[in-house]
Amino acid sequence: MPLHKTEAFVLRTYALKEADKICVFLTKDQGKVRGVAHGARKIRSRFGSALEPFTEVTLGYFQKEGRDLVSISTCDILRSHFERGARDVETASAFSYMAELLTEFLPEHEANERLYRLVVATLEAIEDQVDLSQTLRYFEAWLLRLVGFFPDTSHCAVCDSRISDDESVFLANEGAPRCAACGGGKGFSVDAELRSVIDEMFRVHPTTFARKRVRPDHISKIGEINYQIIRHALERDLRSRSLLKQLSTA
Ligand SMILES: [Zn+2]
Repeated sequence: MPLHKTEAFVLRTYALKEADKICVFLTKDQGKVRGVAHGARKIRSRFGSALEPFTEVTLGYFQKEGRDLVSISTCDILRSHFERGARDVETASAFSYMAELLTEFLPEHEANERLYRLVVATLEAIEDQVDLSQTLRYFEAWLLRLVGFFPDTSHCAVCDSRISDDESVFLANEGAPRCAACGGGKGFSVDAELRSVIDEMFRVHPTTFARKRVRPDHISKIGEINYQIIRHALERDLRSRSLLKQLSTA
């Protein structure tokens, strides 16, 4: 059983028995990986603070054939966001929200390098202290796009015709884009202006996007589109979202 080494982000951990933890990681070359950290709940654990959310680590683990749960051997901190998360409740709840989204949407043991880069870029934006809700809308939309759920508004999903840039698109519940003729004006309307904001969002780094003065109603509409798709895909609300919402309206 060879030792597998990779860079990874810690997403979340759960207590397992008295001394152990189950940890969920986003690894660079194996996608989402769940593993057992033996002894991680002990006070003098060799894992120290390496298992805090969104700590970037060098992870070493063993995987037995036919088993999803790996056995974590080493976990060394490359870059920690723990202090920021511990200091500031908004960042902490943004972290739990992002971790829940990643845990829910990613299959196990399937590499997705662009997704890994999305997490790196989003954390950079959070470190830069740009607008947090704008950054999260960017993260949600990109995540949904990379797992194939975010609509491509350039074509109608019903008649397959091209929808020109100056037209509105009408989204069905699950996010399918429809032209005005097929949508019959029903569904969530995305006008030309909002479409161009979305197009731009998919072209730039999250820090650049979050520094832009995007109209608040556009940001909240992007949030509505994302959340409609998320709820439809998961068939439920996300636990971490209600806390985040309370904070952002406080
Ligand atoms: Zn159509």
